[in-house]
Amino acid sequence: MNPQSNKLDLRELPSPFRFKEDLPHLSKRVIYIETSRGCPFRCQFCLSSIEVGVRYFDREKVKEDIRYLMENGAKTIKFVDRTFNISRSYAMEMFQFLIDEHKPGTVFQFEITADIMRPEVIQFLNDHAPNGLFRFEIGVQSTNDETNDLVMRKQNWDKLTRTVTMVKQGKKIDQHLDLIAGLPEEDYNSFRKTFNDVFALRPEELQLGFLKLLRGTGLRVRSEDFGYVYMDHAPYEMLSNRVLSFSEVARIKQVEDVLEKYWNDHRMDETIEYIVTHEFNTPFDFFQEFGMYWEAAGWSRIGHQLEDLFIRLYEFLETRNTGSLSIIKDLMTYDYFANQKQ
Ligand code: SF4
Repeated sequence: MNPQSNKLDLRELPSPFRFKEDLPHLSKRVIYIETSRGCPFRCQFCLSSIEVGVRYFDREKVKEDIRYLMENGAKTIKFVDRTFNISRSYAMEMFQFLIDEHKPGTVFQFEITADIMRPEVIQFLNDHAPNGLFRFEIGVQSTNDETNDLVMRKQNWDKLTRTVTMVKQGKKIDQHLDLIAGLPEEDYNSFRKTFNDVFALRPEELQLGFLKLLRGTGLRVRSEDFGYVYMDHAPYEMLSNRVLSFSEVARIKQVEDVLEKYWNDHRMDETIEYIVTHEFNTPFDFFQEFGMYWEAAGWSRIGHQLEDLFIRLYEFLETRNTGSLSIIKDLMTYDYFANQKQ
């Protein structure tokens, strides 16, 4: 018997959006919409690799749902499709539909596989998409070829770079790039390189995640081969493996918080750009050193006023005898006033 034959026919499913009690909340929430299920790729850490094939919901019903959501005030609609652009014709049809029918102020977010995106599709978006209508989330995970081979992740870094660069040059679509620390054979130095490779593309957002050994995934089955130690309860996050010690995992975690505050929030772009290019060997080294300092100082993880962020960064730079402090101070002043204007 075909194991897939008892699957739901997604085209027959009713809309999940027509509940009156949801209407007052549509404008305040991120609305998640699923227009396809499954992924053709086989990344061994991912639950979507288990499902065979990609199935689609009915396109016209999807469009009706999106119209309904926009008419009722939805502002942020996130497609949870694992690889929205796996079918170029489908993605193009939806992009065109959203460009034609969007309401001002609506944002659509997609998970995109960047290396399979054709330049002509990006050119179309650069030429026709209104500024800020679309936002792309791109999983890079690692730039280490051996690591990607071990997890059966086919990724063409040159093509991925071409896509991200072209989208960035178009200045229409913000990009959020994801990394996973703790993949097989990605030791601390390799992760540092992955981070720097991706940071060089200057994505609007860069997010670090830590590998989770999810039940049912190939990597969990083979976890002993790579010496994984991981939480014995959800989310089964890795704590160490053969090439990455617990203390190195803890060090990488220190990067996360300062990266969020000092890059992803974009409140001092000129200052950070200068620091990472002139004062540290690599961007990773800046975020790592600052993250360690931040933790040693006992500063909390909660958000801070812009003034606090400047004071803390300045204190850190001063303590380590950073050169060009006067230039950095000028850039901070520039960033401060640029942020006040927004
Ligand atoms: S990580 Fe992304 S590309 Fe890989 S199997 Fe999962 S959804 Fe597909």
